[in-house]
Amino acid sequence: MPEQLAFNDLGAQRRRLGRAVDEAIRGVLDHGMYVMGPEVAELERDLSEFCGVKHAISCGNGTDALSLVLLAQNVKAGDAVLCPSFTFAATAEAIAGLGATPVFVDVAEDSFNLDATSLVSSISMLKRSGTKPVGIIAVDLFGQPADYNHIEEIASREGLWLVCDAAQAFGASYKGRPIGSIGLATTTSFFPAKPLGCYGDGGAVFTNDEELADTILSLRMHGRGTDNGDHVRIGMNSRLDTIQAAVLIEKLKIFPDELVARNRIAKRYNEQLGDSAVVPSIGEGATSVWAQYTLRLPRCDRGAFQASLAAADVPTAVYYRTPMHQQAAYRHFPTAPNGLPASNRLAAAVVSLPMHAYLSEEVQDRITAAVRSALAPCHRPKR
Ligand SMILES: *Cc1c(COP(=O)(O)O)cnc(C)c1O
Repeated sequence: MPEQLAFNDLGAQRRRLGRAVDEAIRGVLDHGMYVMGPEVAELERDLSEFCGVKHAISCGNGTDALSLVLLAQNVKAGDAVLCPSFTFAATAEAIAGLGATPVFVDVAEDSFNLDATSLVSSISMLKRSGTKPVGIIAVDLFGQPADYNHIEEIASREGLWLVCDAAQAFGASYKGRPIGSIGLATTTSFFPAKPLGCYGDGGAVFTNDEELADTILSLRMHGRGTDNGDHVRIGMNSRLDTIQAAVLIEKLKIFPDELVARNRIAKRYNEQLGDSAVVPSIGEGATSVWAQYTLRLPRCDRGAFQASLAAADVPTAVYYRTPMHQQAAYRHFPTAPNGLPASNRLAAAVVSLPMHAYLSEEVQDRITAAVRSALAPCHRPKR
């Protein structure tokens, strides 16, 4: 019986970490400072050093991280914020949750990320319609940074702020710049399944902007002022639990090594699958942390493909089956003037394979063999 194959094997990581995490958690249990204990500041120092950014501010989760930045930017009803449609719901939710208007932009089919041409035409559309665009949230989907050269240029030309939703991409880099250091601010998530995950919910905001950092520090603690008991703005309760910070301090130590492993595995997948499906392509000068390894299937029944892999004990997942502009809660929001053909096509064609740092070569080979045989019917000429 071959070993059970996990889509994301947190158990293997836990075995590697050995007693380190247990001891870190025990340390918190012993000192008892469960909220804003010393591990929180220690982790924030580690994180800011890791990506070379002045301020790393931890918070409750990756969605709150986005909300905190938008709140700090005073995003409100009547404001439009551009974001990709092909993303996890939280990106648009943070915008709509403040009463503002998410405007769904198409993505580039090969990178899964914000398409600069669609972004430009969406901004022109908003200006013509009298809606005020205030900012852009770019997403680094599946671990690869967005096309920041173009996006930054567009944002600065149009006077829009840029926030990077790097929930899936902490640890990646773009033309030598670490993710975290691009835009006005970058947000990430420490949800367990993310490349750097904790053992519950967690998130962080990164910025080099002093004033923004101060505002977010206040917002995450009920908008408190400098004097104890003072509340100078309406904020949130969004802090990272000390226990999660203690877990992350340990996990960050092995993270660089895990990223090497993820990249090695992605390269091997690419080599073995490149002739049967469209494998992910990483843009020039970018590195990915491979939050997901996502194939685009040729004209092919995706359900049958997944069933064939399931029968071979290979788990797969579809991110994302429905783009945001087609979701019941979001379909009334504006979309790019030329439509979102790439988002629609991707939603129908993507499928993600198991990806984590602990996939042995033997298991990788089992996966790629199963994928190739599941794809065989797609390549048979139709009569
Ligand atoms: C996971 C994720 C989020 C939200 O993070 P949570 O910690 O789950 O709130 C936001 N954006 C993207 C792109 C994500 O993948």
